[in-house]
Amino acid sequence: MNEIKTDYSDVWQETIKQIREETTKSEYMLWLNRLSYESSKENAITACVPSTLLLDQIRTRYLQTIEDKLEDVSGGKKIALELVVKKNHARDEKQEKKDAPLVSSVETKKAIPQHAQLNERYSFENFVIGENNQFAASAAIAIAKNPGRSYNPCLIYGGVGLGKTHLLQAIGNQIHKTFEDKKVVYVTAENFTNEFIYNLENRTPLKFKNKYRNTDVLLIDDIHFFQKGKKESTLEELFHTFNALYENNKHIVFTCDRPISEMRNIEERIRTRFSQGLTTNLDAPSYETRVAILKKKVSTLSVAIPDDVIDLICNNVTTNVRDLEAALTTLVGYAELVNKNITLEIAQTQLRDIFSGPEQNNVTIDTIKRTVADYYGISFSDLSARKKTKALSDPRQMAMFLCREITEYATTEIGQEFGGRDHSTVMHACEKIKNKMKADSTLEPAVQNLIKKIRENSIKV
Ligand code: ADP
Ligand code: MG
Repeated sequence: MNEIKTDYSDVWQETIKQIREETTKSEYMLWLNRLSYESSKENAITACVPSTLLLDQIRTRYLQTIEDKLEDVSGGKKIALELVVKKNHARDEKQEKKDAPLVSSVETKKAIPQHAQLNERYSFENFVIGENNQFAASAAIAIAKNPGRSYNPCLIYGGVGLGKTHLLQAIGNQIHKTFEDKKVVYVTAENFTNEFIYNLENRTPLKFKNKYRNTDVLLIDDIHFFQKGKKESTLEELFHTFNALYENNKHIVFTCDRPISEMRNIEERIRTRFSQGLTTNLDAPSYETRVAILKKKVSTLSVAIPDDVIDLICNNVTTNVRDLEAALTTLVGYAELVNKNITLEIAQTQLRDIFSGPEQNNVTIDTIKRTVADYYGISFSDLSARKKTKALSDPRQMAMFLCREITEYATTEIGQEFGGRDHSTVMHACEKIKNKMKADSTLEPAVQNLIKKIRENSIKV
């Protein structure tokens, strides 16, 4: 048997060193400096951070960067980074004390052990209900009370940072807590796919089947991932898993970043499965809900945040809850570093970049192409390819239209970026999309959704 390397501490050191060289000092001090190596096992490193707020921020901002770098440094090996909260920095103790009841600390001891795949912080108690999420939250609570009964399967969809993972895991946490005999499995569509392929390659498909078919509640996060690339055998397996669970009154809940009707590259029978049952969606929170969410988060911190600062954040950050949290974490990080109380003036200066992010016109054609390719599940280069199949020309026209709508580039320049096409091709594409939007009222929200994603992908942190 090959010997398997399971100590990645050296890989970790090198990875962090390289990332440090590539990031600004303040960014490094604010976020990455707070991350410390804990242990490694086969294909995974565990690192700890001193608070949950930081954990979430590092996960959303840097997880991908770190994992990519780990792969680089280790010579192409896929090493996953697992983050846990652990009190290991003296200066964070004050904050941790306040955070403690909400935090999934590796040191927490409880009568019922914490579910291994779920973050304890994602609970119903910590979820602020507003007009934007009321229906989804009520459904989630009802499911957690009576798993296997009503609203099965259930799909929660909504844009990034609006609480999909939070609600999904809250269902899992609640069931895990109240029904000791019920087995809850949480998995992202990406990990479901990786695990399936891994078990296939290792000739242990039964292991996979046993895990996913012998469960009472199956929670699959981010099913839009399934539409990317060729995943037929995974979807086939998902289809059978779904049927097996459904027939036995086991509960299934999914999340997705878009309505099922907008999913590409998936078979009709799978689409039907996803859209069976109850579909609910999460919208962006209103000003009042944003204030309620921030106030709730602030109440768990040891740093005082005055009301006028909360008002400032809520007036400027309208996109989603993750961005709200990012603004707050920036302020908390600053207050801890310089040991100063947060005032309106400090907040205005510290948050200037965050506030100006989406409005600033820093959208590039590449970002648009990347976002559109991702959205339609095609490759970046397909957008410049000569091929004229509908599967490629629809996204291509959409991408050209968006370039025209949200950037200042001329049609000739846009054409250049799409495989050296003529400016008339770009104009034709724009006309076509406009006409389609007139004829099909469902296209407008899809376009808005795409623009939102492009703006999100354009924000540099
Ligand atoms: P998504 O999975 O939709 O991208 P998440 O569930 O990861 O979004 O939510 C992003 C962050 O915002 C998380 O830290 C989550 O706890 C928080 N959050 C989202 N909605 C709410 C809410 N209604 N109340 C409190 N926190 C929320
Ligand atoms: Mg999520």
